[in-house]
Order: sequence, then C-alpha cells, then structure tokens
Amino acid sequence: MVLLSHCGAGKTSLSEVMLFTTGAIPRLGKVDEGTTTSDYEPEEIKRKISINLTPLYCQWKDTKINFLDTPGYADFVGGVLAGMRIADGAIIVVCAASGVEVGTELVWRYAEEREIPRLIFVNKMDRENANFHRVVGQLQSSFGRKCVPIQLPIGSHTSFQGVVDLIGMKVYGRAKEPEGEIPPSLEGEIHSFRDKLAEAVAEIDDELTVKYLEGKEITSEEIRRALGEGIRTRRIVPILAGSALQNAGIPPLLEAIGNYLPSPKETGPVVATNPLTQQSKAIEPREDSSLAALVFLTSADPYVGKLIHFRVYSGTINSNSQIWNATKGQMERIGQLFMCRGKTQEAVPRLIAGDIGAVAKLVLTSTGDTLSSKEHPLRLAPIEFPKPVFSVALHPKTKTDVDKLGTVLPRLVEDDLTLQVRKELDTGEIVLSGMGDSHVEVATEKIQRKFGVGVRAEIPKVPYKETITTLTKAEYKHKKQTGGHGQYGHVFLELEPLPRGSGFEFTERVVGGSVPRNYIPAVEKGVLEARQEGVLARYPVVDVRATLYDGSSHPVDSSEISFKIAGAQALKKGLSQGQPVLLEPIMHLKVTVPEAFIGDIIGDLNTKRAKVLGLSRQNDNQVIEAQVPLSEVLRYAIDLRSITQGRGSYNMEYSHYEEVPAHLTQKIVAERAQEKA
Ligand code: GDP
Repeated sequence: MVLLSHCGAGKTSLSEVMLFTTGAIPRLGKVDEGTTTSDYEPEEIKRKISINLTPLYCQWKDTKINFLDTPGYADFVGGVLAGMRIADGAIIVVCAASGVEVGTELVWRYAEEREIPRLIFVNKMDRENANFHRVVGQLQSSFGRKCVPIQLPIGSHTSFQGVVDLIGMKVYGRAKEPEGEIPPSLEGEIHSFRDKLAEAVAEIDDELTVKYLEGKEITSEEIRRALGEGIRTRRIVPILAGSALQNAGIPPLLEAIGNYLPSPKETGPVVATNPLTQQSKAIEPREDSSLAALVFLTSADPYVGKLIHFRVYSGTINSNSQIWNATKGQMERIGQLFMCRGKTQEAVPRLIAGDIGAVAKLVLTSTGDTLSSKEHPLRLAPIEFPKPVFSVALHPKTKTDVDKLGTVLPRLVEDDLTLQVRKELDTGEIVLSGMGDSHVEVATEKIQRKFGVGVRAEIPKVPYKETITTLTKAEYKHKKQTGGHGQYGHVFLELEPLPRGSGFEFTERVVGGSVPRNYIPAVEKGVLEARQEGVLARYPVVDVRATLYDGSSHPVDSSEISFKIAGAQALKKGLSQGQPVLLEPIMHLKVTVPEAFIGDIIGDLNTKRAKVLGLSRQNDNQVIEAQVPLSEVLRYAIDLRSITQGRGSYNMEYSHYEEVPAHLTQKIVAERAQEKA
C-alpha cells in the first residue's frame, strides 16, 4: 500500500502513528522534530519534507501491512511513481482544513491511470478550520460520487474527539479499541450518512440493489462485503477521518486497510515476460511459483551500504542464495535479506510473494530490474518515469573532484531514474537534469555530502551553432619557402547553406588531379577540424556543404599538412564571406495547467519569444504547446511554479535549431568572447 497526498497533508506523520499504534516502534516521532522513522535523510530533515520513497511495514492483527511513504513535492515524483508501480492499494491523505489541493488531484490522476484501489483519509481533524463535510463535498465534486464516507468525525479542531464507524456503528477515540457512545446530537447525521453508504454499496451488488429498492435494511456484514468488492474494482472510494498528530482514528484506518485494500493474493496474477522467448505469461502470487521480484528503489545506508529494495510478485527469495537478474542477464549473489522500516532493518531468512524487502551489496542490479531464477527467467514491466525537464551544469571544484564526479554520477542516476546526466559535447559541460530545481538541488547536495565531491551547479550554457546564409566560394593557398623543403597546398572550396538539421558535409568534385587524390583526405580533415569553431563566436558550424572543387599542388613541397592548413583556412574565409549567423536550439514545450492560468501562461510565453502552436483539453486541464528558444526556458520550472502556485506541469523536448534574431546576436557574441578570453 502506498501513501499519497499533496505535500504536507500528513503522510509521514500518519506512517509514524501507524507504526506506533501497531507496536512496530516504541516511541512516536515527530516531523517537526525530525524524528520520524520515514524521513531520516539530512536533506529531508532540513526541509521537513519527504524526498525519498520509504518502505515501512507493520502487523495489525493478522495482517502484515507493507506500506510506502512517498514524497509529496512534485519534483520528487519519481518516488511516487515507483511506489505506485508496486502497490496494490493506496491511501490518499487529505488535510481537513486545506481540502483537495493540486497534489491531491495529481496523485488521484496517477492512481486512476494505474487503476489502484484506494481509500481517502481526511487527516488533521484537530486543526483549526478543519471541516470534514466541506472536504467530502470537494472530493465528490473533484473525483465523483464514488467517494463515500464510511466514518463521521465527532467534533473538529479543539473539540475533535474521534470518529464514528458507520458500518460497525462504533465510536473510536484515541484508544485502540472502540469506546464510548455515539453522541445523541450526531444520530440524525449518522443515519443519513449510513443510508448514503448503503445506497452506494447497493449499486455494487445486484442482490443488494433489490434489497435497497425494496426498502429492506442492508446489514453491516453486507455493507462490508460489497464495500470490499467496490473498492477492489474501484467503484467505491471510502472516506475516513482522523488526526495523525493526535493519534485519533488510526485503529479503524488500519482495520479498513486490512479489510478492504486488496492483499497481493486478491490483486492476483501479474504479467511477466520470458526474456529469451519474449513470451508473456501471468504469474500467480504464490510462494512456490517461479521467482519474479521487481527492484523499485535503491537507497544508501550508512552501515550496510547500497540497499536494493524489491517487491516479490511470485516465488520465494532466500538469504545467501544466487538469483538471476533477468534484466541484465547475469547471476547475482544475494547475501542477507532485510525488511526495512526507514533506516532500520530486520534480517529475515526469506521473502515470499507479496513481500517487500531489501538486500545490500548487489553488484550489477539497479532500479527497474527483475530478479528471477536462471531456470525460469522472467522480466516484469519496468517503472515508467517522466523525462527530466530541469538542468544544471555541474562544475567540479578541484582536479580530484573532476575524477570523483566521473564515478559518482553514474551511481547517482542509477539510483534515481528521474535524474539524467550527459556530457554536452558542444559546450563541454556535464549537465545534470531532473524533475525540477529542488530535485536537482538535492541531488547536488548529495554529491557533496554523501560522496564528498566539491561541485558548483550553474545554469547550463546554450549549445549555439553557426551557419552561413549564402552560397560562396573561397580560395586559399598555403605556401611557405623556408629553405630546403617548402610547404604548398592550394584549394578552392564552395560553401553552400543546407536546410536546418542537415549537419555538416564535405564532398569533392576535383577534376584532372588539380588536387592529387592522396591529399583530399587531408583537406577534409582540415575542413572538419576548422568547422568545430565558427567565425562568429567559435560555435560549431552546421548545415553547410563544403565542396573541394579545384586547387593545385607542387611536386616537391606539397604535403598532407599543407593541404590540411589550406582546407581549414579556405573554410574560415568562406564562412566569413557567407553571411554567417548564429543558430539556437528551439524546444517543444507542453504546459499543462488549469484553465484559469492560460492567459498568464501565454502572456509569459510571449515575453520568451515563444510561438504558441495550440491549446487542447486534457481532463480538467488545458495543454498549451509552444516552440520556444532554450535560452528562454532554462529556468522554466521556477517561472511556471510562480505563475501557477505549483498547479502546472510541463515537459520539454529538443525540437530543432533556428536562426538567432539579429538583435540578440551581438550580445551572445560578446558574452562568448568574454568566456573564451
Ligand atoms: P507529508 O508531507 O504528507 O508527509 O506531511 P507530514 O507528515 O510531514 O506533516 C506536515 C505537517 O503537518 C507537519 O508539521 C505535521 O506535524 C503536521 N501534521 C501532520 N498530521 C497532522 C494532524 O493530524 N494534525 C495537525 N494539526 N497537524 C498535523
């Protein structure tokens, strides 16, 4: 089960109180004191937010609950998606005062897309302005009438005392067991809500429909049964209430998880593919079937080192055994297996279908891999992550940092699949990309703190290019007489502008051996080297065809080096004559926002030299597509957040190169001259 919410609704606090209530931990930690089981990394304690996906587990009566605390901040969506990929059910936590927020809508959409059965927990009933009924109204108008309360809170804010379970008709306060009487003042409301619940479950089951229509009472047992069915088939999403901070309403929540969210058995078989035959088959969640376990997370523990977390879908995995990594196609030694609860681990001899666990010191396994057996290799569908949208250039501080960074970065991106690293060939920079500024900032902090590498993160340089706009011809004769052997190379080049995206071409149409055959490769070499630095601002030259069409040679003084120099110089001369221009990368931008923000988004895009291509509707949002120069959107994550207060998202892909407008060229050329000086 995975906990999902808008940032700050109380997932981490709820995780903590669930662990405490079930006796998994002896002391209740607090987010505000940095003492929770789930948020234990320095970056999380400092920011008081979850950054990492954290596996936790507890036992409530006869149900083992494996659950995952997820980051609520959009930048760390990778953890949310990994958690959802392996969860059979979800709890959507909503703040009783703030109600449905941007992040609630987002995780709801993800859960719908992934068809995850879920329940809603309206947390913070003890807070000022907590209003259960208002939140229920918002939930129903945002997500439909399938959201139905199965509890009612007693009081709110300082008068909040607990909840009434509308099925068992019992009152839960702060104790583990039900206690106390239903307050008479609530009776009318309770009956009306129980009736709404009965009506909702009646729609799930034909027999109950008849009963309901005949006006007969639907029993608590019938409600429970139909509710379970309705939740598993996602036709009902029950709403519960409580307060994580005050430890109220937690036992009935645990009860609901055990009763209504599907167990791995109830979720049923999943599809796995044999990587050798490419044949897919359904694998049963049984401990005696072939092993298939999906690695969903890599974390670093100060004592045991790198931990690989996986969910077992079928079969059994034993400590001190060998497994087959079906994704990498290699054997891997398994040492001690663990079940993890934040930073604490419990050693276990084995893990079976349905379990979530971890193992340290694997050599080649990374997030997304499937662990199986060599006899029955199986591969599970990997986790799908969105493409990174925000980049920084990393500049190592010292020479040793340069070397260290080279080994650290591959590890970093292997652990977090929403990070990417690349060396930008045109600018020579190491570019780290992630889901937003905070994501990249945290990754940079990690590089320094965890791996001890000194780096500075800066705005990446734009990989401009140069080209020419008119056909031109250029001649260059390289001739030197320095006593003894001289140097002689003489070429004529024709330079022709090519359509955008053609790249750089070298050809020749030399007739009559004016440039001897054996020197043509040298000319080509000179031209290709020289085109790396154009004449405007020393950016690479593209979209030009250079044709060697004539020249001359000397029987004694000609050499490869002479022709190479002649080729390079002729190119430079030709480029200067060809009315050179700068080209800049244009991105295809897709911004998804609620309708109310369209005007502001387009207004902002207009200041960024964007061409708006169109608008379309996607569920309740509008999608704006535009083409915009990369130089204008290097910090778009920050702009978008400030325009929409975090309610927008975007993705961006390289599209093509276009000419830089003349009025901007001078500035870029001047900046480049300074940089190269
Ligand atoms: P998360 O971001 O969803 O994991 O939320 P946290 O558990 O980190 O909680 C965010 C803030 O809300 C912290 O300051 C918590 O102390 C506070 N909080 C969490 N649950 C409750 C609650 O039930 N009542 C009140 N009043 N505050 C809460």
